[in-house]
Amino acid sequence: MSKEKIYTIKITEAMNQKCGCPLCIVQQKLESDELDRILGAAMMEPDVRIKTNEQGFCNVHLDAMYNKSNKLSLALMLHTHLESFSKKLYKDTVPMLKNTPEPKKQRDVLDKKRRTCYLCSRINEFMSATYSAFSYMYKTDPDFDGKMRTQPYFCLKHMRLLMEAASHELSKETYSRFCRTLNDINREYTKQLLGDLDWFCKKFDYRYKDEDWKNSKDAVERAVKFLK
Ligand SMILES: [Zn+2]
Ligand SMILES: [Zn+2]
Repeated sequence: MSKEKIYTIKITEAMNQKCGCPLCIVQQKLESDELDRILGAAMMEPDVRIKTNEQGFCNVHLDAMYNKSNKLSLALMLHTHLESFSKKLYKDTVPMLKNTPEPKKQRDVLDKKRRTCYLCSRINEFMSATYSAFSYMYKTDPDFDGKMRTQPYFCLKHMRLLMEAASHELSKETYSRFCRTLNDINREYTKQLLGDLDWFCKKFDYRYKDEDWKNSKDAVERAVKFLK
């Protein structure tokens, strides 16, 4: 199956669910598949191990791997990563004829480590291709605008990233139609969310305590998902 087809299928599956931002659904599934992959067979592949040794993992992904049950895979991977990183930190930062590492060089090594993560880089690469595929589907499928309009919302992060990808992929006219659709959907959702948040706050006032919660019970959770 071509790579493009894979992105198209994942977008279509997420859009069929109609529960939340479809790009968040694609990303959550991808995060989970990538965690299973790295703690499974991929961990033993030499070319993968070279990359994990070099790039390491961000805090979010270290926690996510730690919370999975496969501690042996994680231990093996962290062992070689820590070994290769400690060489950089303690050997590569020692200037000639000296025994002690140079603090400035060490800070640079530590800073670089903070900015690299094997899983983030794979996920970002896949998601970038997904945003382009989304624009391509918009351009080539005449029903896609209507399918977009059946989505509950596009979270603000994905709204920005979709608009950015579409600005490169679509003609001026199609791009403005695409942006109008995104705005129509999100404006409507924001209106609903504001009403639900307002009602949620009112429910803490004794005058409303016996009233129905309406749709506001999960309003805070939905607002966080939309904004983050
Ligand atoms: Zn999203
Ligand atoms: Zn990461």
